[in-house]
Amino acid sequence: MSKALNVEDLVKRYPTGVEALRGVSLEIAPGELFALLGPNGAGKSTLIHCATGLAQPTSGAIQVFGHDAIRDYSEARQAVGLAPQELNLDWFLTVEETLDYHAGYFGMPKRERRERTKELLETFSLTEKSDERTRTLSGGMKRRLILARAMMHRPRLLILDEPTAGVDVELRLELWHYVQRINQEGTSILLTTHYLEEAEQLCDRIAFINDGQIVGEGTSSELAARYGVDSLEDAYLALVGRKELSRSHAEVTAI
Ligand code: ADP
Repeated sequence: MSKALNVEDLVKRYPTGVEALRGVSLEIAPGELFALLGPNGAGKSTLIHCATGLAQPTSGAIQVFGHDAIRDYSEARQAVGLAPQELNLDWFLTVEETLDYHAGYFGMPKRERRERTKELLETFSLTEKSDERTRTLSGGMKRRLILARAMMHRPRLLILDEPTAGVDVELRLELWHYVQRINQEGTSILLTTHYLEEAEQLCDRIAFINDGQIVGEGTSSELAARYGVDSLEDAYLALVGRKELSRSHAEVTAI
């Protein structure tokens, strides 16, 4: 059976000469919730861009459910839902239109779009907001809408790029609930984060990325055991160093 995501020796060198990915390999099994954990600048977004066809790898291969992200772009893209870090909503559309237009880009017929919109508005507790313009939503609702939008075309792999960057503790817990629910309903998930707790609480397996390379991979306890330390945090410190070690409570206190 095809992997949800299969990355083999992926290299990405930008025209500026920066080598953002330096031979990354990883596999995500169907149904898995997988975290890519690393400091800013480690290469997380670049990997996501390569998986979604936004960036062309310099060498190596990347496949989504067996579809090559470059050669079979449209099949691979259909299989992926992307919830980007930035709140890139069209502020003049309503909640319902946001979902409907997105599914339209993916070629979903009108009737199916209407049914799927209704279903996702309920799942993400947005039914009452369906006719409101996106700019009027609270921060939490905007993030839920971005998750719902990413799920509209029924992707088998959902990519979440730092889904809780900069949000408060309460909203983080709320978003975790929705992410777990999506996974329990069968969608494989790749989540990038620089919050240790997020990876630890949510994910089956974790890969540490640093300077464009995977420097450790496994379950939280495997990583700790492999490096002879007590916790994921110590394993991270051993492999990545102190760069931007993020404990979410520390960050929120600092705001
Ligand atoms: P992360 O998502 O982990 O913060 P990125 O993938 O955004 O990391 O960045 C990895 C490296 O690639 C960084 O050194 C960054 O400055 C560089 N980079 C990212 N995007 C571009 C780009 N479009 N052009 C040139 N360099 C880039």
